[in-house]
Amino acid sequence: MDIRQKKKFFYSQNSLKTFLECPKKFKYRYIEGISWSRSDDLVKEAIEDGETLHSVAERYFLGIEDDFYYKNRDKTMIWMENLKKAFPLKTEDIYRCEYEIRQRKEGINMMARYDLINFKFTGEIEIFDWKTNKTEFDKKVVEDSLQTKIYLFLLTENLNLFNINYFKFKNISMTYWQVKFPHSPIKIEYSSQSHNDNKAYIKNLIETIDSYDFENCKKVPIKSCNFCEFSSICKD
Ligand code: SF4
Repeated sequence: MDIRQKKKFFYSQNSLKTFLECPKKFKYRYIEGISWSRSDDLVKEAIEDGETLHSVAERYFLGIEDDFYYKNRDKTMIWMENLKKAFPLKTEDIYRCEYEIRQRKEGINMMARYDLINFKFTGEIEIFDWKTNKTEFDKKVVEDSLQTKIYLFLLTENLNLFNINYFKFKNISMTYWQVKFPHSPIKIEYSSQSHNDNKAYIKNLIETIDSYDFENCKKVPIKSCNFCEFSSICKD
């Protein structure tokens, strides 16, 4: 069954990004339901680093700092120390870790999982995303990224989940923190104009996918074919 027709299906950052990268890859993954992952050492290491950082950050913001969990993990303890220095816990703030938001309204059927949403006592609401990339991000690229659009949009649309019915756009932001560049977090401010633009962009993208003719989807060779998990079966 076409996954788009399943009642429980919500578009995510990953699925939308996959479609933008290659509609045929979207077809393999989300319509035919074929799931493969690369298994080389570099990819495994990146996945393990990502999972560890998210776990460390979640435990830190939940107030769990026992070193039993991290024993013999020098790298992990350094990450924890860097987190502490960059984001000292404030008792007046509210922290929501690994928080999932889903919505099905106005033609936007979408979900996202947030590494951290920080509701500050000052009224600011800051989304945090933890990254383990080896190269430092460029603010402009991050600002225009699909993740930034989706995460800021979805949270703003669903603030009622947190009993927030009044807010100012200038109080909402998203910060990317790269554990390998702990002193240069990238903070993206939000605005009413960005919100309207994001809504139009996401709605249009979902409508495009919903009406896309995947039956006649052809292979259009692109650079990423060389790294694609479907390259051995993708012939035309
Ligand atoms: S091999 Fe290329 S065209 Fe085929 S699914 Fe992968 S990225 Fe798309």
